[in-house]
Parts: sequence; C-alpha cells; structure tokens
Amino acid sequence: MKQADLTTPQKEMLLSRLEAQLCELEQQINDIHSRGAPVQLDQQAVGRVSRMDAIQQQQMAQANEAQAHRQILRIKEILLTPDDYGFCYECGESIGIGRLTIHPAAKLCIQCQGELEQA
Ligand SMILES: [Zn+2]
Repeated sequence: MKQADLTTPQKEMLLSRLEAQLCELEQQINDIHSRGAPVQLDQQAVGRVSRMDAIQQQQMAQANEAQAHRQILRIKEILLTPDDYGFCYECGESIGIGRLTIHPAAKLCIQCQGELEQA
C-alpha cells in the first residue's frame, strides 16, 4: 500500500521529536559516564555475587551506551539531510506518518523492513 508523503508540519513535528531524542540520548551517555566508575574487582568488601552483579551492570551499561551511540549517529544523519526524511532508503517510497510516529528514526518502509527481517 502506498503511503502519503509527509506534510511539512508532520515532518517538522517528527524532526523536532528527533532533536529532543538526540538531547536525551546525549544526556544518557553523560549519565553513564558520570556514574561509570570502574568496577573495583579486588575489594574485600565485595562478595562474589555482588561482584558478578557489578560486572553485569557494567556490561549492560556498555551495551546501552553502544546502542545510544548508534541511535545518535542515525538521528544526526537524519537531521543533516532533512530533505530525505520520510522516504525509504531501499525503495524510495514514503515510509508514512503512521510508522514514523511510532519509530521516528525508521529508515525503511514497513515492507522493506519486513523483507529484511525475513531474509
Ligand atoms: Zn521500502
């Protein structure tokens, strides 16, 4: 099904949401860094279990940070080329307001995304 192109106000609304999301992600990374004192593995006071917890937490923080970085790059790319925004990278068709409202950083239309996931 062919989606309608975004109207200018729709596009502005989505782009400003992405800008807000970008700020949040950068804040999130700052938080990780300010909290992220290296795990003290050799502390007597830290038992075996909580040491594992600490390592797990650190790994989770690193995974979150990597994901946030990817998202930041993606959003910056969109904000740098706003003319391309709303069109599928694969087929060039409009992604559609419905999908972009849920996933403002989507780069593929629902059809191409579906094919990618099946592949
Ligand atoms: Zn497509």
